[in-house]
Amino acid sequence: MEMESLKELYVDELKDLWSAETQITKALPKMIKAATHPQLKKAFNTHLKQTERQIKRLERIFKELDESPRGKKCVGMEGLLKEGSELIKEKPEPDVLDAGLIAAAQHVEHYEMAGYGCVRTWARQLGEERHAELLQETLDEEEQTDRLLTDLAESSINIDAQTGSDDEEDETPSRSRSNGKKQTARKSASKRAAAPSDDDDESMDVDSDDEMVGAGSNRDGSM
Ligand code: FE
Ligand code: FE
Repeated sequence: MEMESLKELYVDELKDLWSAETQITKALPKMIKAATHPQLKKAFNTHLKQTERQIKRLERIFKELDESPRGKKCVGMEGLLKEGSELIKEKPEPDVLDAGLIAAAQHVEHYEMAGYGCVRTWARQLGEERHAELLQETLDEEEQTDRLLTDLAESSINIDAQTGSDDEEDETPSRSRSNGKKQTARKSASKRAAAPSDDDDESMDVDSDDEMVGAGSNRDGSM
């Protein structure tokens, strides 16, 4: 009896995830178009392809369960994606938009991670080991994407801090300064993955290429 209701919950959450992923495949192309930073575009592109494979994984599970993935709309994801599209409509300055897009995408990844963590655990409890492995694969990808986005935000922030630090002493205990040196403001902003970079796109790109070498291996490995 209990197992039956857990199974219902499991199928229900899988449907929710399928709906969420399907919505993401429609939203990501708009985010790719809106993004300015080439490495951010690339990260979104990579994740779009990854998301398509994640949908296939879910469909495989549905097939094994002899269930349809349809019949439920993930309103949580709908809301998160709406926030992202509202940001794009506001047409902020490109670097600010990039920072906002990273934040929007990280909200999406965390939401997915919560869902996949739950179904992975329920799959194990229901004795569906193969499902659990597939769901864990997706969970790992969402986590990697989240980390990549953080790296991207922080690498931009670091470069801005560098270019903005000419007038700042190395050992300034900047956190205690109230006039908000760029470096200070951006370091704390990085905690929210916000990476406003308003001065030097060129040097930002150079550094991010280095960053993306590592990220690329992550991408290749997980695809
Ligand atoms: Fe996903
Ligand atoms: Fe994702």
